[in-house]
Amino acid sequence: MHHKNRSYFTEDHEIFRKSVRTFVEKELLPHQKEWEEKKFVPKEIFKKLGDQGFLGINYPAEYGGSGCDLWYKVVFAEEMTHARMNGFAMDVFVQTDITSPVIEKLGTPEQKKEILEPAIKGEKILALGVTEPSGGSDVARIRTTAKKVGNEYVINGSKTFITNGSRADYIVLAVRTGGSITDKETFKNAYQGLSFILFPTKTEDGKTRPGFSVGRKLLKMGNDSSDTAELSFSDCKVPAKYLLGEENKGFYYIMQNFQGERLITAVMSVASSRQLWNDAVAYLNERQAFGRRLADFQVWQHRFAQWAAEIEAAQELTYRAVDLYNRKIPCVKEITMAKLITTELVNKLAYDCVQAHGGYGYMAEYDVSRIFRDVRLLTIGAGASEIMREIIVKETGLMR
Ligand SMILES: Cc1cc2nc3c(=O)[nH]c(=O)nc-3n(C[C@H](O)[C@H](O)[C@H](O)COP(=O)(O)OP(=O)(O)OC[C@H]3O[C@@H](n4cnc5c(N)ncnc54)[C@H](O)[C@@H]3O)c2cc1C
Repeated sequence: MHHKNRSYFTEDHEIFRKSVRTFVEKELLPHQKEWEEKKFVPKEIFKKLGDQGFLGINYPAEYGGSGCDLWYKVVFAEEMTHARMNGFAMDVFVQTDITSPVIEKLGTPEQKKEILEPAIKGEKILALGVTEPSGGSDVARIRTTAKKVGNEYVINGSKTFITNGSRADYIVLAVRTGGSITDKETFKNAYQGLSFILFPTKTEDGKTRPGFSVGRKLLKMGNDSSDTAELSFSDCKVPAKYLLGEENKGFYYIMQNFQGERLITAVMSVASSRQLWNDAVAYLNERQAFGRRLADFQVWQHRFAQWAAEIEAAQELTYRAVDLYNRKIPCVKEITMAKLITTELVNKLAYDCVQAHGGYGYMAEYDVSRIFRDVRLLTIGAGASEIMREIIVKETGLMR
């Protein structure tokens, strides 16, 4: 099943697609097995991505970006899935779609110079610190506090499951600067008491910031090439100039920022679905059973015909959301629906693709088994499916 969509992509997008594909084939694919096994990706690869301009696709030239439209980002995300290691792709998207957009949008010129510019070059790595051990879905109940003392914030608390967490130079950190989750009186305002701090993990002399520490390495069922860490903050002091945007507007910023994250998750899920479909169909056409190719059995033909139709539908919903987002037209409903539909789809499809591969599908060395494990995260992270349905309830006026 080929990917051709003339309504959205121009010749220039396709030229860009080829350059990303070449990069993925030369710089990522050859290392895939090693990085997945070692559960580690060298930091230098960020610099290589930066040198190609892949980390600043739609940022202004002033900060080293290329000023392109969102469709180039879509192309980049689609091609990144060809490395068949969602873990590393996630590390990169945390940089490009989850942390740097909010800095570009809200940062002061000084913050952009210090953080956005080197992030676009791939010289600094960024992480997003929202989730805490006590919960990720209920963002309003964030417990990590930041108290303003003089010209500094003093941070106390902990975060978990943080992608790029163990080696981030800056963490876009969600903290509580007001309200309370324990006091019933103030809880109703709890969501109004959140803020974002651009937490520098090192001090100016390059040492780990006192009071900040990275906990044990988290072992996961998939996404092995991604760095996922627990972080803790104990009376950790940060200059007040690292507050991002306005104090106590963090909840609103987090919700806004989720849109880009969910959209890119949908794009990746569709691209992974297409890849899974292509690999499985190739296998069905090759593998023999009972004197026939598996693809000759109508049961497999129908099953994969059904998946082809569902992938196409999911793709169009996703592209519709990209189109609206690109034109800055409100599209929370479309992005939420795309995130829900595509992430659920890729998981059900992956299940069938493992089945189509039989015992080989269960072998770790087969791409399909890795992708099956990797995509499991997609209905959980960036807002779980249950949360997507909650938003759709509100967006559609379902409850009257
Ligand atoms: C590999 C990995 C990487 C991650 N990277 C990051 C990162 O970089 N930064 C970051 O901040 N976080 C990150 N996360 C955290 C992720 O966003 C959270 O795991 C997710 O938001 C869910 O939060 P939780 O795990 O605390 O589950 P919970 O919030 O405890 O939810 C548990 C279950 O209950 C359901 N549930 C919750 N509320 C409701 C409701 N109202 N109605 C019905 N069901 C509900 C959920 O959908 C879920 O199924 C990462 C997670 C993983 C696994």
